[in-house]
Amino acid sequence: MRVVFATAELSPVAAVGGLAAAAAGLVGALRRSGADVELLLPDYGTIDTTGSEVIELDVPQWAGPASIHVVEHPVAGRIHLVSCPGLARSHPYLQPDGQGWLDNIDRFLRFSQAVAAWVLLSKPDVLHLNDWHTGTVLAALDDPPPTVLSLHNLAHQGHGPGSWLASIGSRAEHFEWWGGINQLSGAIALADRIVAVSPHHADEIRRPGGGFGLDAAVRARGDAVTGILNGIDTTVWNPADDAFLPAAFSSGDLGGKDRCRDTLLGRLGLSDDGSLLAVAVTRLTDQKGIDLMVPTLELLDDLPLNVGILGAGDADLAAQLAEIAGRSERFAFIDGYDEALSHLMFAGADLFVMPSRFEPCGLTQMQAMRYGTIPVVTPVGGLVDTVPDLDREPRTGRGVVARAAEPVAIASALHRAVRRFGQRRLTTIRRRLMTIDWSWDAPAAEYRRIYDQIS
Ligand code: ADP
Repeated sequence: MRVVFATAELSPVAAVGGLAAAAAGLVGALRRSGADVELLLPDYGTIDTTGSEVIELDVPQWAGPASIHVVEHPVAGRIHLVSCPGLARSHPYLQPDGQGWLDNIDRFLRFSQAVAAWVLLSKPDVLHLNDWHTGTVLAALDDPPPTVLSLHNLAHQGHGPGSWLASIGSRAEHFEWWGGINQLSGAIALADRIVAVSPHHADEIRRPGGGFGLDAAVRARGDAVTGILNGIDTTVWNPADDAFLPAAFSSGDLGGKDRCRDTLLGRLGLSDDGSLLAVAVTRLTDQKGIDLMVPTLELLDDLPLNVGILGAGDADLAAQLAEIAGRSERFAFIDGYDEALSHLMFAGADLFVMPSRFEPCGLTQMQAMRYGTIPVVTPVGGLVDTVPDLDREPRTGRGVVARAAEPVAIASALHRAVRRFGQRRLTTIRRRLMTIDWSWDAPAAEYRRIYDQIS
């Protein structure tokens, strides 16, 4: 089975968010299962390509010149790095001031033309596209191979001016969107299968309000739309062997978790008064609902609970959280993206809070459970699939589910967690959470089944 897999992000080469982790995890597992995967990634200029094989691509003049460098990466394996004008930048999407590059639409339209040109040369059994950055590949190909489109985040669709429709290929009409271009809408119409990154989110995006304006387009595809839950890299996220932690631990020997907790409390500047410790590791964006924690913290009153947040993103929200942390004994905020500290937070905490407004899959709740940390979540997207409520399902439950993404509901979920989890119960639940298999093997097998069905 030969697969061309095109993505704008890839851990650890171009690691931005969940798409990067999913691309790396899925491609790795597909390759282990015997699939021959050509992994196409924009050449952002961060990998040395000297001496690598170069293939020139035949793209329309506006999109080129375009070429591919085939490189061997020590972690990600073989990558086909796609070069075309404008792709190489210091960050895949963002300028140093945090605003998007002004030509992001054009950049990924060019990338998609280059991917289409490669598909014509390579003639794979299956083409696997991911998110809007690769959507218009299907405008440029008259007769594409069987195609899977994975939807990692429907909130981003690559809207641009309608003048582009004249340039992107023979099937451009599917990408026309209220007079403009929508790089995702046509891909949803044209792909053979559309895969949301969790089963519950596959339902949500069919509903008005859940599909970010594309719900009708998704509904129109009927059974072609399914959901496959993402996995996590269980070698990177492994409490028994994690170089970022001061002590190792496992479901059979939880002793090291206490040492991680002590170190974490020190890093956060919180004192150990025997209270539970709840943390969040997150981007500071509307999606993640961290702004809801501002009023939520007020509602925690005298609850014996310490809270620590590690977050990067919205500068106003970061300033607000820093201000609250400055006058609170029980709340700490660390501004930034810090991989090492994130591992310590998953390991050292008792509870992991995700007040998300929407969550296509969510990786951090799975990472938390792998480290025996109990998720407290809102009832959205992949959180519904991965975190059954412990009160509703005492034997199989995995966390505490708030009624809604609202401060009162999140605060009452935290109250419930603190009331319910005595030390004995915590240990039992932790052990159960730590033995769940979150690896990419099962999701990759589901994708392979889809490949087999359509090819
Ligand atoms: P997203 O919507 O941001 O992709 P996910 O939960 O799918 O959310 O994945 C986010 C990934 O990024 C997780 O592996 C998480 O640990 C990591 N991450 C998010 N924010 C931070 C941060 N501030 N510091 C370190 N790692 C972070």
